[in-house]
Amino acid sequence: MSTRPCSRAACQREAIATLTYDYADSMAVLGPLSLVHEPHSYDLCAVHAERMSAPKGWQVVRHQVVGELGAGGVGAGEIGFGA
Ligand SMILES: [Zn+2]
Repeated sequence: MSTRPCSRAACQREAIATLTYDYADSMAVLGPLSLVHEPHSYDLCAVHAERMSAPKGWQVVRHQVVGELGAGGVGAGEIGFGA
């Protein structure tokens, strides 16, 4: 098993997501960690994935893997909601 580090300088955390810039559509896509390193893609840890922001005018697409990072409290609340 091999893991890749976050691509941000001076960051030693394990990458959990891959950010890919689609220049043609001015779109930044944040998705599950890519197994293949592609041009214009950057591996990000949870912290940097959360903080990422696209250039002005760009659309940001966040896939499920990233949304789960901050969903822990929501899940716990849903359990109590039905009781
Ligand atoms: Zn990082």
